[in-house]
Amino acid sequence: MSFIQLPESVVPCRNLVGGEWQLPSGATLLDVRSPYTGTVIGRVPMSPTAAVAQAVEAARPAAALWRTTPLRERTQFLFRFRQLLERDLDRLANLAASEAGKTVAEGRAGLLKGMEVCDFALSLQNLDTGGHMEVSRGVTCEFRREPLGIVAGITPFNFPAMVPMWMFPIAVTLGNAFILKPSEKVPLTACALGELMCEAGYPPGVFSVVHGGKEAVDALVAHQDVQALAFVGSSAVARHVYAEGCKRGKRVLALGSAKNHVIIVPDADPELTPQAVVDSFTGCAGQRCMAASVLLAVGDVEPLLREITRRAARLEVGPGMGALIDRGAVDRLETAIARAEAEGARVLLDGRGRKPAGERWAGGNWLGPTLLDGVRPEMESARRELFGPVLSIIRVPTLSAALEIENASPYGNAASIFTTNGAVAQAVVEGARAGMVGVNVGVPVPREPFSFGGTGDSRFGHGDITGPSSLDFWTALKKVTRKWSARTDGSWMS
Ligand code: NAD
Repeated sequence: MSFIQLPESVVPCRNLVGGEWQLPSGATLLDVRSPYTGTVIGRVPMSPTAAVAQAVEAARPAAALWRTTPLRERTQFLFRFRQLLERDLDRLANLAASEAGKTVAEGRAGLLKGMEVCDFALSLQNLDTGGHMEVSRGVTCEFRREPLGIVAGITPFNFPAMVPMWMFPIAVTLGNAFILKPSEKVPLTACALGELMCEAGYPPGVFSVVHGGKEAVDALVAHQDVQALAFVGSSAVARHVYAEGCKRGKRVLALGSAKNHVIIVPDADPELTPQAVVDSFTGCAGQRCMAASVLLAVGDVEPLLREITRRAARLEVGPGMGALIDRGAVDRLETAIARAEAEGARVLLDGRGRKPAGERWAGGNWLGPTLLDGVRPEMESARRELFGPVLSIIRVPTLSAALEIENASPYGNAASIFTTNGAVAQAVVEGARAGMVGVNVGVPVPREPFSFGGTGDSRFGHGDITGPSSLDFWTALKKVTRKWSARTDGSWMS
């Protein structure tokens, strides 16, 4: 399957500041390599602190103008943006896939999910986003949602379009000026989204893109005019952004890493279960924060495990499965597999060294599906996020033992149960620690308007990144109490 089309020439990424694309002065340039081939497909500037200050400066008048633009008017820009996304869906799906190592189908799925968030934001114009009540005779109380001003989103490599679109369609529609700091590993899709925001006609400075890494992030966190920060990435950085942002009185929601558990019990559907488990741990080459990472095998589930192994072994490594983001990820995962082996795990299926046929993919970052059996809860492969197509199997005698392991994880993004018994499913729905639970679903991403967000070290802060609680995150409530005198001196009243 060689349907992916990499960009034909090296894309020079620029910051989008005040509606202009510009190369920040003093920025070093980093090569962006496609995980599929290792070829350079773009160059990204690593913005210094001054470039962040410049973007905030340019966003200031835009934020002032935008907050006074009525919600219905603001929504019209998002309608146009959404139409442009639809027009360019194939091109964007290819771009996201080219730089993140996703399959084109997964690139497309990420965009469709982003469009679903746009739909949610588009619906806000028909919701009563405020509230009003007569609290005593002649006195009313009211609350109004007001934008915060300049806000920022910092995003990871694995969903170049979807994760930014968890944030900016809602933030901007609610009247904020938004600065996107995408992952320096996937800046091309962010530029393409910025171009479409310009084409949709958003006033300059309402949507900005600042490329870079730690320095740009720290500058956004420290800047006194950035009122709120949404972050998605690894827990170590999420914790840092959350702590530093909160210290400065900012509103912060920081989503972090994951270690997702899939529980299978002997009565699990033999047709549905194996493929769902395989799709979950191998999809996007395992680089999904919702990917299955630990399989808790309850009781005798040998036939299911055999079928999972058979189906995973059949998968072709290559563009049909996706590539790892860089060489470092391949090395990290191969080391983790070797360590699990040394700790006593049995490698049921070994993805190390597997590569797709054909010279074209020789420079890519490959790892085949890997199944580790006999993993114990205290082993590294059971506890740490590996972020690759590796599934650790832990054998447990009972459902309670499975839930105990799931509950002990510091992370809490997703957990799934595969069963044909409603009571078993309900026990997991109620007993799992994870914020998103699946029943016979391997990747339990809620559809909008059901919001997205985990618990524990998978989320620092309050509320979810999408759905109803995002309204609270991106706005402040102003409370108004009104009392009008019933008396008037005018004779025209009656
Ligand atoms: P990452 O933490 O390395 O990078 C995320 C962002 O932080 C990037 O924009 C990056 O430039 C910036 N950054 C990196 N190091 C930094 C530092 N030291 N200080 C300040 N900023 C820094 O994450 P990643 O490797 O790009 O993405 C993969 C991770 O994201 C995985 O852990 C995955 O589970 C997680 N993720 C979580 C969710 C979720 O919803 N919980 C969704 C997608 C990805």
